[in-house]
Amino acid sequence: MDTSLSSSIAERLHTVRTSMQAAALAAGRDPASVSLVAVSKFHPLQSVQDALAASQCVFGENRVQEAAAKFPPLRATHPALRLHLIGGLQTNKAREAVRIADMIESLDRPALVDAIARAADAEGRLPDLLVEVNTGDEPQKFGVPKEQADAFIRLCQQRFGPSLRGLMCIPPAGQNPVPHFQLLRSMAQTHGLPVLSMGMSADFEQAIAQGATLVRVGSAIFGPRPALA
Ligand SMILES: *Cc1c(COP(=O)(O)O)cnc(C)c1O
Repeated sequence: MDTSLSSSIAERLHTVRTSMQAAALAAGRDPASVSLVAVSKFHPLQSVQDALAASQCVFGENRVQEAAAKFPPLRATHPALRLHLIGGLQTNKAREAVRIADMIESLDRPALVDAIARAADAEGRLPDLLVEVNTGDEPQKFGVPKEQADAFIRLCQQRFGPSLRGLMCIPPAGQNPVPHFQLLRSMAQTHGLPVLSMGMSADFEQAIAQGATLVRVGSAIFGPRPALA
């Protein structure tokens, strides 16, 4: 895949979409069953605007403050815009997250469930929600540990009903991601959840082969992330 800086965001988006379509067809799936979340974290507003101009509507950010600065002003001119929060979420950011997000992909503990439920009452809106599963049981990572996942998913379903849409995972770096994708898919099946958010720049085609309905792709679209200020 061409991720060089010389090609434009529009060109790289086209390349990613073409690869997604091919991966879906190769897996015998309808390409329309897989959506692209363009992960714009750390990239400037201009990059988001370039992607919007190339008909990209769904974006992922992992910090609430950065998302709140970039996205709400764009909604007036781009009503189809959808913002997914994909990063670990502090409970004290839950209210702003509920206010600005269309989907929060990182539910991973009961305290956050409580904070989001309270925020939804206060704001009068509830985004779609995913449970993040720490499929590699990595201590430094966000996500509910594997052995607690079933009980936690049931808790979220009781609390949020059909707004709990599915599951998300970030496989451990440097490992074959396929067993992690398969584990996530089987958990989603067990709980009757339709949305599977899995696959990033390096492995979205493998994720689509394993049933991903959302892929979160950053650097393959926007290029390398700038260093944090
Ligand atoms: C940054 C990030 C991505 C995108 O990663 P790339 O390798 O740049 O595609 C996907 N998911 C999450 C949760 C992220 O934080």
